Amino acid sequence: MLNNKTKARLIVFSAPSGAGKSSLIKEVVSNSSGNIDLSISATTRPQRNGEEHGRDYFFISDEEFNKLKDQNSFIEYANVYGYQYGTLKSFVDEKIKNDINVILDIDVQGFDLIRSSIKEHVSIFIIPPSIMELENRLVSRGLDSEEVIKKRLKNVQTELKYAELYDYIILNDQFENTLNELTSIIYDKNYKYDKKININLLKDLLD
Ligand code: 5GP
Repeated sequence: MLNNKTKARLIVFSAPSGAGKSSLIKEVVSNSSGNIDLSISATTRPQRNGEEHGRDYFFISDEEFNKLKDQNSFIEYANVYGYQYGTLKSFVDEKIKNDINVILDIDVQGFDLIRSSIKEHVSIFIIPPSIMELENRLVSRGLDSEEVIKKRLKNVQTELKYAELYDYIILNDQFENTLNELTSIIYDKNYKYDKKININLLKDLLD
């Protein structure tokens, strides 16, 4: 998909919380020798333990977020689990200008906006092996309260319904296998991907 002749582009990644998307993205970026970077979004969500302003997100107030919205500073933005999140136009433009492909780790609403407004993008939706596995991962990573986990799980069916709209649906079962598949999708022009198989996996999850 990526080659030296084409202009740098956007790679949209979405997944239900706990599907393992962040760890996969981290590996894709660190294996990319600098030609893929992750966009750092702005959010009004409170900072979690271990997160850093400017590295994980730009943590800003509602007032600041609304000001940026009014100034048309976002490529897309959405309200996710009660907080605002947005992709900063200036951040992405700077990377593309320097021929760096940009990963957008965004929710399904944000993808819907990108899909209708930006032609040059590739979209990947990561699915977990089962809803139970998702719940186990959310509980064991210990980042969110019980209430937040409930909210996130409640949203999963809605998120999964969007998955069919993405170019690729990838099952994250074994981390290394998933990473290999992502690497092929991103770098191998001849990679044969069978969407039908993964749509069937998706249907199982929706049942
Ligand atoms: P978290 O709070 O766990 O970091 O992220 C919650 C959700 O917000 C995830 O699904 C993540 O992909 C999404 N998200 C993060 N940044 C953005 C953004 O800039 N725009 C949109 N639309 N969603 C985002």
